[in-house]
Amino acid sequence: MELVNIVSVCIINLPYPLGISSRKKDFLPGKTPFLPLEQKTRSNWIHLIVVIKKSSRSQKAEQMNILRLVQLEKEKKNKPSSPEFKKLEEEAAACAKEPSPCPIKYDGEDLKCRLSPVEYYVTQQKGTERAYSGKFLHQKGEGMYTCVVCGNDLFRSDQKFESGCGWPAFSDVIAHGKVTVKRDTSHAMQRIEVTCTQCGAHLGHVFDDGPKPARIRYCVNSAALDFKKHTTV
Ligand SMILES: [Zn+2]
Repeated sequence: MELVNIVSVCIINLPYPLGISSRKKDFLPGKTPFLPLEQKTRSNWIHLIVVIKKSSRSQKAEQMNILRLVQLEKEKKNKPSSPEFKKLEEEAAACAKEPSPCPIKYDGEDLKCRLSPVEYYVTQQKGTERAYSGKFLHQKGEGMYTCVVCGNDLFRSDQKFESGCGWPAFSDVIAHGKVTVKRDTSHAMQRIEVTCTQCGAHLGHVFDDGPKPARIRYCVNSAALDFKKHTTV
């Protein structure tokens, strides 16, 4: 089956894959709009920007990821979230009612000078780096992943796993309270945003399709992270 190629900007903010369709109902929330290329017809409504061209090697990899996500989406329908993930959902709901202020506040102009454009965009403007573009996606060394803004320790290297989703993925944080979870309804979706508790930097989102038993996947932008390598003396 040949698939359409989709520009990264369309994929990056979505927890489920996109395809192309001329039928508006295929794009309703909760549905997985995904059709093979041969079913494509010229759409008279498109809210989403899609690009169709011959597959390149990296796009093939992205397509495999889409297929995997489609499979996960199908499996998820019959699989309730783990108690650990439900707890995160409760925390996210509580945070929406009563957000707690961050202990560290930085001046926006200072951050613009100190951070790279993509780091600033991700952490301060809730952006998402392009899939498969992050410097820590395939990072394997032992160490600690910290917040790029304030240096808060967030994830251990042994909590990182290959999710195939295009961004670094972690099964847990180093300690409860290191990150804050909040409901995120942007882009017409129900997601849980993950921020640094210490400075409020946007890190990414958390999903319930990680490794067993908790099946938690913190999907984090490389641009929101720094890495401290463990050294032995
Ligand atoms: Zn921070």
